[in-house]
Amino acid sequence: MGQERINRIKRILRDGNVDGILITNLENVHYLSGFTGSDAALVMTETKGFFLTDSRYTTQAREEVSGFEVIEYKKKIEGLSNLINDLRLREIGFEAQDVTYGAHRELADKVSGGEFIPINERVRNIRAVKDDEEIGRIKRAINIASKSLRENVWRVMPGNQEREIALELEFSMRRNGADNIAFETIVASGDRAALPHGKPSEKRIHKGEFVIIDFGARYRGYYSDETCTFFCGKPNRRQKEVYQIVKDAHDKAISSIRPGMKAMELDAVARGWIKDAGYGDYFGHGTGHGVGLAVHENPVIGPESKDVVEEGMVFTIEPGVYIPGWGGVRIEDMVLVTGNGCEVLTGLSKEIEGVE
Ligand code: ZN
Ligand code: ZN
Repeated sequence: MGQERINRIKRILRDGNVDGILITNLENVHYLSGFTGSDAALVMTETKGFFLTDSRYTTQAREEVSGFEVIEYKKKIEGLSNLINDLRLREIGFEAQDVTYGAHRELADKVSGGEFIPINERVRNIRAVKDDEEIGRIKRAINIASKSLRENVWRVMPGNQEREIALELEFSMRRNGADNIAFETIVASGDRAALPHGKPSEKRIHKGEFVIIDFGARYRGYYSDETCTFFCGKPNRRQKEVYQIVKDAHDKAISSIRPGMKAMELDAVARGWIKDAGYGDYFGHGTGHGVGLAVHENPVIGPESKDVVEEGMVFTIEPGVYIPGWGGVRIEDMVLVTGNGCEVLTGLSKEIEGVE
């Protein structure tokens, strides 16, 4: 497992014509070394791997990290530049989007005769295809989250407050074994459901409103992400219509998934459906995103994505329609791409459910 991940970096080393790679993105550090703490970096060459951290984490690193020589630093930039100088690296690939301008300048200053070359495009994809261990953890995170929503669905009813529901759901996820919640739970009702990322407020739910609940759990580093849209009472014609359009866009996108297709084409399936139904202006975000050690990671399922769908990828399909002043609907599931299609990992019903 660990070796296959490290081999992915070695391929980047060879193809990218660099003689070393500096990894500073924490999720990538975790992915490659097993370290779960909050500050560390890796320096990898064709033959060696070094794990650098400060004294708070050396003991933890010795337990968690394998396949790397653990080095303790007092100051991060100094520790990194000393090692890079000792190894006499000339061309060092680095994650440009992850290093601040200040840190980059300081590093370039202290590393004599070395050049830092941005390699984000290559490194950003190393985690996109999941192995069995990762899929197991993702499924566990999903189970915890689904179980927790089932326990709290009854709270989605007139008179209850958005933030109360969010709080209870978050509490259940922790109690059911989540390391943490994946992100701030979204509970958005009525015209607030038109806000794609509506923070739970003190608003109470009323009859005749949509309630969007977007939630997830984290289990051993891995996330889940799912959205259910409920309806309080009996939906009218337009409410039913909008729900059905989003549901169909979601279903059609999921059934079109094949390894080898362009992520942008997959996005177009959902987007085209919503546009043809006349609601194109009300669907502003991407159709989906990879989920793993980060809630949002590669691949990007959006109109400008250059990613290609591959077997083993885990991502969301989450079209939505948000009409200001009226309300909104989003339906989100996580899928695992298989050899000829996909497996839907999240299991809660996506039929419109009237909650009285
Ligand atoms: Zn979500
Ligand atoms: Zn999502």
